[in-house]
Amino acid sequence: MKAFATAVPLTALALVAGILLLDDPKEAPAIDACQVVGEVTTATGDVVQEIAGFTGVQLRNAAVVINTATDRGLGDRGARIGLITAIQESGLRNLANAGAFTYPARGSSVMSASQWAVLRDQVRLSLDLPNDGVAPGDWDSIGLFQGRLSAGWGGTGTLDEQVRNLLDPSYTTGRFYDSLESVQDWQDLEPTLAAQAVQRSAFPHAYARHWAASGELYEALAGVTLDCGATSGEAISAHGWTKPITTYKRMSSAFGMRLHPTLGIWRMHNGQDFSADNGTPIYAAADGTVVKAGRAGPSSDLNWVIVDHGGGVHTYYLHSEDHGILVRPGQPVTGGQSIALVGSSGRSTGPHLHFEVRVNGQPVEPMAYLASRGITY
Ligand SMILES: [Zn+2]
Repeated sequence: MKAFATAVPLTALALVAGILLLDDPKEAPAIDACQVVGEVTTATGDVVQEIAGFTGVQLRNAAVVINTATDRGLGDRGARIGLITAIQESGLRNLANAGAFTYPARGSSVMSASQWAVLRDQVRLSLDLPNDGVAPGDWDSIGLFQGRLSAGWGGTGTLDEQVRNLLDPSYTTGRFYDSLESVQDWQDLEPTLAAQAVQRSAFPHAYARHWAASGELYEALAGVTLDCGATSGEAISAHGWTKPITTYKRMSSAFGMRLHPTLGIWRMHNGQDFSADNGTPIYAAADGTVVKAGRAGPSSDLNWVIVDHGGGVHTYYLHSEDHGILVRPGQPVTGGQSIALVGSSGRSTGPHLHFEVRVNGQPVEPMAYLASRGITY
C-alpha cells in the first residue's frame, strides 16, 4: 500500500520508537493463534478443504474480505477487488515482517537509512503477534494488504497498536475499503485499476491474473462465516473469565444427576448444556492452552476441546462437528477467543454445547464456578 499520505511523521516515529528498540535479531516464531483446521462448509453446503488453490487461514482471510465488502454494500465487485489485492499482496496471508529488507546502498526516496534503522526494529514487533507467516520483507509492509507502518495504514495509536492493527485482518480490510471508496467512480474502473488506485503497486498488472480465483472464492464463501479467531466481545471478569457461549436457545440440562436423554438411565451429568444452533461460536472461558481438540478417543465420534488454565483447572467444550474445531492442541488461547462451533457429535439429541469445569480432575458445578469468577448468566 503506497497511496496513503504519510499520516505519522517519521521523526515522530523515531522519537517514540527510540525507547522500544528490540534486542538482537531473533528467530521469527510462527505464532498460529488461530488456524482453520479441516474443512469449510461453503455457501452451497459443499464441504471442501480448498478453493481456487487456497486453504485454511487463507480461506478465513478471504471470508473476512468478502464479509467486510458485503457489510459495506460494495457488492461482488467490491469484494473481488479486495480479494485480488490481498491475493497479490500477501497470498491471502496475514504476514509479519522480519525487517530483513536491506537499505539500498544508493539511498532511497522512500526513507533515509536512519529512519529505516528505527522502523525495522518496530516492524519486528509483528513477529511476536499472531500471524500466518513471515514476509521476506519490503520496507515496513505488514499484514493481509501489506500496509506500510510509516504510511499510516496502522492508524494513529501507539506504534504497538499500529503494528497490532496491521496484523488484524478485519482492521486492514476496513482500511483498504475506506481507501477504495474514496476513489471516484471506483465501480466503473477496471478492477485492476481500482486496486492500483489504492495500492499504487510497482506491479499494477499483477492484480488482474487473480480475477478468476476471486470469483471462485466469492461464489463459495459469500455469506459464510468462518469464525476462527473472532472474540465474543463479552466482558472479561476481574478474575480473567468470560462466557463460553453468548448466543443460545436455552440452558437445556444442568450439572447433577439426571435421566440420560439417550441412554434412559439415571447418571451424573458433569456439565452445563446450552442448546444452540449448529455453528454457533464457542469461546474459551479464560486464557489457557489447548490440550485436546478433536475426537475424544480412537473409537469415539464425540469431538471435544479441552483448555488447561493452569492451577489444576481445565474447561471442556463438547459436541462440535469435525469442521467446527477451530484450534489445535498446544495452541495458546485467550479468554473470549472462539475455539469451536456448536454441533451434535457424540451422544447428543441435537446441537448444543456441553460445558464442563474440572478442578484437579473433578467436575464441579460449572455455573457456580463461573459465578465465583465474576461471570453470571
Ligand atoms: Zn451435557
